[in-house]
Amino acid sequence: MDAEIIGVGSELLLGQISNTDAQYISQKLSQLGINVFYHTVVGDNKNRLKEALEIASRRADLIFTTGGLGPTMDDLTKETIADFLGLNMFLHEESIEAIKGYFAKRGRTMSQNNNKQACFPEGAKIMPNNHGTAPGAIVENKGKVFIILPGPPGELQPMFEDYVIPYLERKSKEQITSRVLKVYGMGESVMEEKIKDLIINQSNPTIAPLAGSSELTIRITAKTARGEDPYKLIQPLEEKVRQRLGDLVYGVDDDTLESVVLRLLVESKKTIATAESCTGGLIAKRITSIPGASQAFIEGVVSYSNQSKIERLGVSEATLAKYGAVSPETAEEMVRGILETTGADLGAAVTGIAGPGGGTANKPVGLVYIGIGDKEGHFTVNSYNFLGGRKKVQEMAASMALDSIRRRLLTLET
Ligand code: ATP
Repeated sequence: MDAEIIGVGSELLLGQISNTDAQYISQKLSQLGINVFYHTVVGDNKNRLKEALEIASRRADLIFTTGGLGPTMDDLTKETIADFLGLNMFLHEESIEAIKGYFAKRGRTMSQNNNKQACFPEGAKIMPNNHGTAPGAIVENKGKVFIILPGPPGELQPMFEDYVIPYLERKSKEQITSRVLKVYGMGESVMEEKIKDLIINQSNPTIAPLAGSSELTIRITAKTARGEDPYKLIQPLEEKVRQRLGDLVYGVDDDTLESVVLRLLVESKKTIATAESCTGGLIAKRITSIPGASQAFIEGVVSYSNQSKIERLGVSEATLAKYGAVSPETAEEMVRGILETTGADLGAAVTGIAGPGGGTANKPVGLVYIGIGDKEGHFTVNSYNFLGGRKKVQEMAASMALDSIRRRLLTLET
């Protein structure tokens, strides 16, 4: 199935808004294995929209329109489609009720104009709008499908998820299924080298590496007949990738370093506490952003000054004087302090120079020590040199700390 997306709206042509609806729809269609060959944009003008519909009908099977479903005179998408297909318009009573309900909920009454939003070309299947007033519609006509969507992304996207995707899935004989492997702790080129032959020899499933800011993903995508188990195709390739990358693959699909850390903590019935200097609580924030964190997260201390390191964490004045706050010795004492004062099974501490100031020749900006310790008395401190601005250094340090916690959890006996 080939698709074309027609954005309707003079605002788009005037450059007042970007065509993010087309971007969103294209991304979704590519995940569904549907080709998008053209994006068209027309203003709120009946003749030009008709011309765009004519051209699109010649070269696509699926024609999406976005926008122009409002109650005013210049909203003319549905009327133009009906005119183009030689169909009458009909009033959809359920939609009138839904629009009335939308206004009533907000303490307003529906104006007569809004009736227009409940009118559709004959034979249209209506898609309710749960986030606004303009319902969408699907019109099947002479082998072509017209999918009519509202312009505001907050209305279009849920409608697409709830109605368009299930419709397209029902229509298609094929299904596209992806599995995303999340990788942390290696560079893009090294990773590509390790799986190069798999990339070169790919057919079905396909394999695509993608580099993010501090982590990598590998998307494995299988095309199968509807009803067939796609994981039969995906699994052997996933296994091969895992064999090559080992525990650098930390998760799949929606997993994040913090969600995996929390899952491992809960599974092993361990608790954790953190002591952070240069990351300013970022590690604690990331762990606590995962629902269920209270099962394992005891306390996160942001210990920024020397005084706090001494008083809250029991770092010795002598250590600070001799080695400085950014040192492996201080990092280890911070872990010991947080473990002792919270009774957690596992502790993590970070101390470093996030910059932009404060660096020296011996201790440059980006130098970070990450300490991990456990109740059984195993302590490790590693040093890193992260490159980038303050925010980037903080984010990279937090990710590295989370990955270090993950690795420690993998070695712990449950
Ligand atoms: P409504 O649901 O309010 O009746 P509509 O379907 O009539 O909306 P328009 O009036 O064309 O849509 O556009 C409303 C708003 O939606 C625009 O002001 C803009 O913010 C957003 N919008 C419209 N088209 C696009 C697009 N292609 N990409 C991103 N945003 C868009």
